[in-house]
Amino acid sequence: MEAASRSPYRIREDFPIFSRMRGPRPLVYLDNAATTQKPRKVLNAIVLYYSNTNANVHRGVYGISIEATELYEGVRRKVANFVDANSWREVVFTRNTTEAINLVAYSYALHKIKRGGKIVITEMEHHSNIVPWQLVAGIKGLRIEAIPITMDGYLDLSSLDNSLRDADMLAIVHASNVLGTINPVKEITKTAKEYGVTVLVDAAQSVPHMPVSFKQIGCDFLAFSGHKMLGPMGVGCLIAREEILESMEPFMGGGEMISEVTLSGSRWNEIPWKFEAGTPSVGDVVGLGAAVEYLQEIGLQWVRRHEEELTRTALQEFSEIPRLRVIGPESVKDRCGLVSFLLSDIHPHDLAEYLDREFNIAVRAGHHCAMPLHTKLGLVATTRASFYIYNTKEEVQLLADGLKQALEYFKA
Ligand code: PMP
Repeated sequence: MEAASRSPYRIREDFPIFSRMRGPRPLVYLDNAATTQKPRKVLNAIVLYYSNTNANVHRGVYGISIEATELYEGVRRKVANFVDANSWREVVFTRNTTEAINLVAYSYALHKIKRGGKIVITEMEHHSNIVPWQLVAGIKGLRIEAIPITMDGYLDLSSLDNSLRDADMLAIVHASNVLGTINPVKEITKTAKEYGVTVLVDAAQSVPHMPVSFKQIGCDFLAFSGHKMLGPMGVGCLIAREEILESMEPFMGGGEMISEVTLSGSRWNEIPWKFEAGTPSVGDVVGLGAAVEYLQEIGLQWVRRHEEELTRTALQEFSEIPRLRVIGPESVKDRCGLVSFLLSDIHPHDLAEYLDREFNIAVRAGHHCAMPLHTKLGLVATTRASFYIYNTKEEVQLLADGLKQALEYFKA
């Protein structure tokens, strides 16, 4: 993409939703950590697939089925390249991050970790990276330990070695969806590997926003969602080292994942198809492929820099608002492109409703599926603004103006 095209004003034109007005007000979409908007390139790819190529994959010997299979498998290669995996065989399509983590919990942890074994998580995990481990721990009698966080929003790594010494698995978030903290997952994985610990990285908030290399992190599993990176809802990815996938039991049984079935037993398909039971969401995978291309054209370095600028603007503007408390690290370099905060004693739900009603600003309020994190910080809920490639500094300034007016409106 030409340097001049790398501008949020130009990028917005690719997103039909931004032509939607409410009265005189355009949509100010600041809930990108929940899901992102879709560019025309993605929408068109999905429509074109269903209009032109729709057929089931892997089975047909006729033209459009072969084409559909090529499209589907082509995206696997694109994704492998996007996250710097060793091979397309390391890419398993799931529905989302949550399903990818559940796959690892049930296909890996349940079978490979011995009764009494230990899974280490952190206090800043999304429920998707807590509950699957709790379910499996309950079945198998495993222990779960959480690396604590500091009050300024970092992991407290002072007892990392102690935690990992007798651990079997580490499941850790790359970028927190509440604090924004970017964790040093490469260094942490290195330590984990010294103790022979298997590592899963929840990359739901990192892969869409910054260059991420599966090889360089050195983890065993990396999970993320297509819908948080301009792709459609309904497709996510698990990236996993080939040997580990080979050694794992299937997650779900059915068509696609078998090589032979008899009434007395079955043999599994090769990886990665062993983990893709049933008809996959081909149209969504095709849409994800278009999203990956779109992001690669823009360049993830630019995405990261742009989000840093917006975050810097937000932190600067917020610092001038009385009784506003930002949660998470002070340093922009340590943050992904989101800011969670409290404004005086205004309840985050009331604040989010007010911003929507008065300014057509969409922000998220609540515990953001991270209740243990909020509990640790002594909070029930926060308001979160999260940015992406189409957001502008003016939108961040409008949010700041909205917050100042909210103080008057709520007399807070
Ligand atoms: N992990 C993190 C850090 C997230 O932010 C999210 C989405 N909020 C998830 C996991 C779950 O993603 P999904 O709902 O797409 O499975």
